[in-house]
Amino acid sequence: MSVDLHCHSNVSDGRLAPADLVRRAAARGVDLLALTDHDELAGLEEAQVAAREVGIGFVNGVEISVTWRGKTVHVVGLGIDRSDAALAAGLARVRSGRTRRAQAMAHSLARAGIRGSFEGALALAENPAMIGRTHFARHLAATAVVATPAEAFRHYLVPGKPGYVPHDWAALRDAIGWILGAGGQAVLAHPGRYAFSAGALHALIAEFCALGGRALEIETSNHSADQVGLFTALARHFGLCASCGSDFHAPDEGAEFGALPGIALPVPSIAETWRS
Ligand code: AMP
Ligand code: MN
Ligand code: MN
Ligand code: MN
Repeated sequence: MSVDLHCHSNVSDGRLAPADLVRRAAARGVDLLALTDHDELAGLEEAQVAAREVGIGFVNGVEISVTWRGKTVHVVGLGIDRSDAALAAGLARVRSGRTRRAQAMAHSLARAGIRGSFEGALALAENPAMIGRTHFARHLAATAVVATPAEAFRHYLVPGKPGYVPHDWAALRDAIGWILGAGGQAVLAHPGRYAFSAGALHALIAEFCALGGRALEIETSNHSADQVGLFTALARHFGLCASCGSDFHAPDEGAEFGALPGIALPVPSIAETWRS
């Protein structure tokens, strides 16, 4: 059984419409899929209908942007009730600063000699309220400032580089609270991607557990075999389940569906919750 509990549609910073995304996942062998757009639930209904049509399992999801100790971390919520009012209100608040942040990013890029990036990124954002760094990265690649979106993240858009603007997202306690309040389970996304010391990562996971977090994302496209080993050990230590997901955003842009190794991990899988 192929399980993918993390991906993005054009409702956030993916490029495919929710139904097209589901069809691509199914064609690449995914049997159980969660759509987890950043801070937005608007794609879930369309994705669920498409999943029913192609005959794969579907889980309502979201990936919430969180600020913890001054740095951004992502918390995935799975199995949420997408009509939950408190979750919707919380996410609306998280989304609300994006346009102002994007304008500040564009000012920062303009000081580095790159003009017009706000308008350029906005034109690539299907959902303008969700304008983010991925849209800037695609715009910088499309206008040949860089060769690829990945290169845009190496030279711009990250702490210490032009185009990076610090931002206050949700508090960890609030994000987990909204997910649990909506009947979902909280997953700490791609722990290998955070620039934390071992001690800070331990503290983050401990706090995540104390607040009711349920799983660590262990298999994801950019975790090395060593990281899979490390996060499996941490999940066992903290009594957390394993989650897995590609973090697919777009064709030919890094992660793809159906490419996770599917290792049998010695910790329970959160996917058991939805397997029939
Ligand atoms: P934002 O929420 O606007 O800060 O954008 C975060 C998104 O940028 C992530 O969800 C990824 O899709 C993308 N991203 C962040 N860092 C990188 C990177 N180094 N390479 C490619 N994409 C990245
Ligand atoms: Mn993204
Ligand atoms: Mn993420
Ligand atoms: Mn993601």
